[in-house]
Amino acid sequence: MAKLSSGHGIQVVSPNEDHTFQLNESELQELLLREDLKDRPVVLVSVAGAYRKGKSFLLDFFLRYLDQTYNNGVGGGEWLGADAESLKGFSWRGGSDRHTTGIHLWSQPFKATTPDGEKVVILLMDTQGTFDSNSTVKDNATVFALSTMLSSVQIYNLSQNIEEDDLQHLQLFMEYGRVAKDEIGGKPFQHLQFLVRDWSFPYDHPYGSEGGQQLLNKRLTVKESQHEELQRVRQDIARCFEEVTCFLMPYPGRKVSTDPDFTGKLSDIDPEFQKALQQLVPMLLQPSRLVTKKIAGQTVKARDLLNYFKSYVEVFNSEELPHPMTILQATAEANNTSASAEARNVYETLMEEICGGTKPYLPKDSLDIEHQKCLNKALHAFDSKKKMGGDDMAAKFKEQLVKDIEDLYTQLSAHNEGKNLYRMFSTPAVFAALFLL
Ligand code: GDP
Ligand code: MG
Repeated sequence: MAKLSSGHGIQVVSPNEDHTFQLNESELQELLLREDLKDRPVVLVSVAGAYRKGKSFLLDFFLRYLDQTYNNGVGGGEWLGADAESLKGFSWRGGSDRHTTGIHLWSQPFKATTPDGEKVVILLMDTQGTFDSNSTVKDNATVFALSTMLSSVQIYNLSQNIEEDDLQHLQLFMEYGRVAKDEIGGKPFQHLQFLVRDWSFPYDHPYGSEGGQQLLNKRLTVKESQHEELQRVRQDIARCFEEVTCFLMPYPGRKVSTDPDFTGKLSDIDPEFQKALQQLVPMLLQPSRLVTKKIAGQTVKARDLLNYFKSYVEVFNSEELPHPMTILQATAEANNTSASAEARNVYETLMEEICGGTKPYLPKDSLDIEHQKCLNKALHAFDSKKKMGGDDMAAKFKEQLVKDIEDLYTQLSAHNEGKNLYRMFSTPAVFAALFLL
């Protein structure tokens, strides 16, 4: 396992001058298609919210926890480290331009096993600089919507309180959520975690989850006097997320908030804040709390995530602000693409056993029969995956899948013929050619 300090934030989505977004497909692919990760369900923890509100700082503690727990097997409260230890060189803050909006993924994924025995991969997502004054409304809405739709846990990092504006930002993808919900049935998103920083009314609501829940209940209560739109956002939040929670963080102290030379040393961080970290971080990241990403009721594996990234970035680039139905269409295409890839994989794996590089030659008739069997199994795998987009879309993807598999078969078949030494040597011309060399 590589050292944590050698990791870095990979900018996977970056803004262009014209307010479209660029997907860094090659690096994303390198990360998500890693042989040991690509088939693992994804736990994607994202932190979103306004610029300079301690998101990256918090993520550094997530990294420390993940490294200690999943790479070094350190349990209990030990993960926070020693007093004099500074937050090491794996800060998200260093390096690239801090003002860049976009989406970053930590370059080192963490492998974990849930209490049910499911082997998952944990990815951390930092959304940089959203809501700062240089970004347009669309940029902000896009980054926020993208990160919420792609993550299994969205941590909405807020300063001091939950304000009306903060709820407004949820609106765009809540509309998508509503459409998706009608189409799929279940709740389209998993866990929304409000995180209020510098909470200064602990006597009204105490720090931590309990106080957070009290505040949240207060804020999310639908009142007659509210504008209709606000009432709807509140109802949608409850309907679209499987879990909505809130946590109140205390002020971390003057060194953290104002000292330019602060290096993250625990001794410079208020004990109350450290105590809160000890509750918050394991609550989100310990094995029993890991939430795998689901889209349309299907668990998303690392390699599927790549398809969703591609489809969503494309859809947000194509319109001013995409209509929920357009996003839904993109989701449907991405999950059909994933189902096709999986089916193709079934075919390839089965055929490898039959006529792979190390297997002997098979007569053409037998190979044809095997091919037909494997093709049927692959199509069955495709059909049995729950997909959005209806029968028409599935039929289109299936047709392409059959074509791709037939092409593959042509190659495999040619390769098989190549193994037929007997036939080769029995051809007089080849025989003669060999002796003439
Ligand atoms: P980001 O832009 O949201 O990622 O913010 P950063 O993590 O880069 O932090 C911005 C500044 O806020 C840094 O100087 C941190 O030391 C400081 N900071 C971190 N956490 C907190 C917090 O909970 N409260 C306050 N007041 N400052 C914080
Ligand atoms: Mg940051």
